[in-house]
Amino acid sequence: MIKVSRDVSELKEDIYIIEIMKGLGVTIGHMFKNMFDLSKLPVIDYPNQEKGIPEGYRGKHRLTQRENGDPKCVACMMCATACPADCIHIEAAETSNNAIEKYPNRFDIDLLECVFCGMCVEACPVDAIRMDSGIYSMVDFNRRDFVVTKNELLAIKPQLESTKALDIRHPMQKYK
Ligand code: SF4
Ligand code: SF4
Repeated sequence: MIKVSRDVSELKEDIYIIEIMKGLGVTIGHMFKNMFDLSKLPVIDYPNQEKGIPEGYRGKHRLTQRENGDPKCVACMMCATACPADCIHIEAAETSNNAIEKYPNRFDIDLLECVFCGMCVEACPVDAIRMDSGIYSMVDFNRRDFVVTKNELLAIKPQLESTKALDIRHPMQKYK
């Protein structure tokens, strides 16, 4: 058996209050320094300032459109079938366009149930649903408003190239 001798420190370290005060002094020093100069803090002033998201980030869904503005979706239900969260609800209706046959009369996604896995995008045979909106901040006041409808999904535009941020480093890495 090895006996590890306890390092008997100085008396002032045995009286914890002094060490605690020293530690608090360091903390309070940083607090005041950061109150007047935020530039060295590895944080951003969200929501006034946004960090940006990496390319390929799966944000809020959107439905793509044909040239005439109609949804590309042909109500095949592939996305709803692939969805592990069962949060896509589609009602198909017949269209007079024989090349398409069906369109979604209703196309809702419950974002509170969605796990943003992207399976719906992968399953779609006609590229009718995408998650490239760049929208990652989704807040609302009640559960009903998290169910996005067909018209809302059609109105969402893709994230512009110019606003696409590729800085995906952890905030702390900048300061190393
Ligand atoms: S991202 Fe995943 S969970 Fe969300 S709707 Fe698509 S398949 Fe369902
Ligand atoms: S979004 Fe794509 S997979 Fe889903 S029903 Fe429409 S066409 Fe089918």
